[in-house]
Amino acid sequence: PQPEATTQIDSLCPYCGVGCQVTYHVADGAIVRTEGRDGLANEQRLCVKGRFGFDYPRHRHRLTMPLIRKPGAPKEPLDPADPFTHFREASWDEALDFAAAGLKRPPSALAGLGSAKGSNEEAYLFQKLVRTGFQTNNVDHCTRLCHASSVTALLEGIGSGAVTAPVAEVANAEVIVVIGANPTANHPVAASFIKNAVRKGAKLVVADPRGQALDRFAEHSLRFRSGTDVALLNAILHVIVCEKLYDADFVAARVTGFEALAEHVMAYAPEVMAPVCGIEADTIRAVARLFATARSAMILWGMGISQHAHGTDNSRALIALALICGHVGRKGSGLHPLRGQNNVQGASDAGLIPMMLPDYQRVGEEGRRARFEAAWGMDLDPTPGLTVVEMMDAALAGRLRAMYVMGENPAMSDPDLSHARAALAGLDHLVVQDIFLTETAMLADVVLPASAFAEKTGSFTNTDRHIQMGRAAVPLPGDARQDLWIIQELARRLGLDWRYSGPAEVFAEMTTVMPSLGGITWERLEREGGITTPQGKAILFDDAFPTQDGKARLVPASGIAPAETVDGDYPFILTTGRVLEHWHTGSMTRRSEVLDQLRPQAEITVNPDDLAALGVAEGGRLRMESRRGAVEAAAKPDPRLPRGLVFMAFCYGEAAANMLTNPVLDPMAKIPELKVSAVRLLAL
Ligand code: SF4
Repeated sequence: PQPEATTQIDSLCPYCGVGCQVTYHVADGAIVRTEGRDGLANEQRLCVKGRFGFDYPRHRHRLTMPLIRKPGAPKEPLDPADPFTHFREASWDEALDFAAAGLKRPPSALAGLGSAKGSNEEAYLFQKLVRTGFQTNNVDHCTRLCHASSVTALLEGIGSGAVTAPVAEVANAEVIVVIGANPTANHPVAASFIKNAVRKGAKLVVADPRGQALDRFAEHSLRFRSGTDVALLNAILHVIVCEKLYDADFVAARVTGFEALAEHVMAYAPEVMAPVCGIEADTIRAVARLFATARSAMILWGMGISQHAHGTDNSRALIALALICGHVGRKGSGLHPLRGQNNVQGASDAGLIPMMLPDYQRVGEEGRRARFEAAWGMDLDPTPGLTVVEMMDAALAGRLRAMYVMGENPAMSDPDLSHARAALAGLDHLVVQDIFLTETAMLADVVLPASAFAEKTGSFTNTDRHIQMGRAAVPLPGDARQDLWIIQELARRLGLDWRYSGPAEVFAEMTTVMPSLGGITWERLEREGGITTPQGKAILFDDAFPTQDGKARLVPASGIAPAETVDGDYPFILTTGRVLEHWHTGSMTRRSEVLDQLRPQAEITVNPDDLAALGVAEGGRLRMESRRGAVEAAAKPDPRLPRGLVFMAFCYGEAAANMLTNPVLDPMAKIPELKVSAVRLLAL
C-alpha cells in the first residue's frame, strides 16, 4: 500500500515531447502517484511512462555528492553493481574549482553539450556560458541526433523549424500521414489522438519499414525499404504533378520553385521507384490521390525520416508534398515533426545549437550577432561551432581537449560508440553534470550531482510549441544542487559575474533577446500553466511564411540510397529506436522499478523466418556484429518485421545498440544515419 498523499503539485511529465500535464501526489518528500491533468496535449491522458516512471530520482545510485576521479583511475565503463569505484567524494567548492580550472583553455579546445531534458532557462544559461565563458560556439545537444535534418529543411523551405500545427489538429484532418515515426511506442498520448481521429472518419497512411501498432488503423500501411524514403515520396509527388492533383492556387500564391520540383520528380515514376522502395506502383498512386484530394491533411514524422545520411532530403520531400497540395496553414493541415525529448523544441529555441544564437539567429550574420553582443556585453565568436559527432572527431584528433556535459549521455546515444567513448575518455578534462553516474559520467574527471525533473521549477516547450510550467514537487537529495545554480557557479569561476536569482529572472532576460517570447511573462506562465508560441497561434502560416518574400520554397530531393547496404558479410539491416517502456539511453526509466520490470532485458527483434533460419528460438542468445562493433542479446521474433530487417532499442547499457551504428552524417544537418546499419547475426 502507498502512503496517503499529502500534497499535490501541478507539473509535467519528464519524458517525451508530447508534454503531458501531470499532478504529482507527494508524501514524505516523494512522489507516490501521478495523475494526468487537462493539458492541451493530453486531456488528462498519460502513458505508462508518465503513470509509473516517477520513482527514478530515489534510486540507490542517485548522485548526492560531487565526485572527483581518483588519481590514476582508468577511464572505462564501470561495473553497474559498483559504479563509484574510480571516484572519491568532494566538497562543492573543491569540485567546482577543479571543474572550472580544467575549462580554462583556448576557446577552440572547449565544447559543451547541453540537455533537451533541462528547462528553457537552463538551456539558455548553458549556451550563454559556452558562448561568453568558453568564448566558442561549440555547443550542441541531442537535437543533432534527433530532428536536425527536419529543422534544416523546414528553415530552408518555410522559414521556421517548429511544427506548423499541433498534434490535436489531427481531429480536423481528413487524411493523416505518419511516416518514420512510431507514436504508439514513442509518443503514446499523441497516438491516442490519431486513433480517435481515425475512429471519427479520418484516413490514416502509415509508412514504416518495421510495421507498427497503428497499422491496424491505417487505410494504407507502407512497409517500404529502410532508407528509400525519397524514392517513395518523389514517386508520390510524381503522381500528384502528372495527374495535376496539386493545389494550383496555393502553389501560385504561396510557393516558389514548383517548375523545378515538377521537372525533378519526372524521373521518379512509380513503376521506376517501386523496385527501389518495395511499394507497388498502384499503391503509390492510390496514396498520392488520397493525400492530394483531401480537403485537409497532416503529416507527422519522426526519426525514421530524420536519422539518415539524406535526412534533410527526406524532410524536403515531405515539405514539398504538403506545400504543393496546400496542406499547410489551414485547419486540420500541417507539418509536424514529432519532437522526442520533453524540451528539445525549447532547448533549440534557446540557442543550444552551434550555428545559431537564441531564436535561430545565425552566429555568422553580423547584425544579428551584434544584438546579442550588446545584450551580453562582449564580443561573440562569428564562426559556427562543432556539432555533436564533430566534437567526438575533434576530440580524437586532439583539437578538442575539454568538455562540459550537462544531462546528456553521448557514451550511449552517439553512433559508433567505441569511437565516441574513446573520444570522451581521451579528453584532458571532462565535466559531467547529471543525476546518475551515466555511461558518460563514468568517463568524467569530475561529476556534479544535479536536479531531477521533479526537483526543479522551469519552463518547457512541447512538440506543439506550447510553453508549460514544470514545478518542483520534491526536495533535492543529499547535497545535489539545482542545475541553474551549478551553471552559475561555473560561470563565476570562469570570470562571469552572474547572479540570477532563479528561473524567473533568466526567463525575463530571454524575453529581451527572443522576440518569439513576445508577450509572455513568468507571471503569465505561472498563472496560465501553458502558452503557445508565437502569439498564441496553434496553426501557423495561414497568410504568409516567415521568409524574405513571404513564400515557401520547394527544394527537390535526390538521396535515394542509404550510406550502407547489405552484402554477403553483413546481410541484415539494423534499425534502432525506442520502446514504449524505456526512454532514450535508459538513464531514468531503467532506474524506475515498474518500467524496468516491464522491459528488463535487451532484445534483438528479428523476423520469425530469419530467426528460424538461424536456428534460434525466442529468448535464445544472438550476437549482432557490424563493421564497428558487436552486442549480444536475447532474440525476439516479430512477424511485422520484413525479412532482412532487425530492430534494437538503444537504451540497454549492457548491450548498447549504438556500438553498431553508422556515424556517416547528413552533409547539411550533420545528423548521423542511426536508422540504417549493415549487420550480421550469429546464434550463440
Ligand atoms: Fe509522458 Fe510522453 Fe507518455 Fe505523455 S506521452 S505521459 S509526455 S511519455
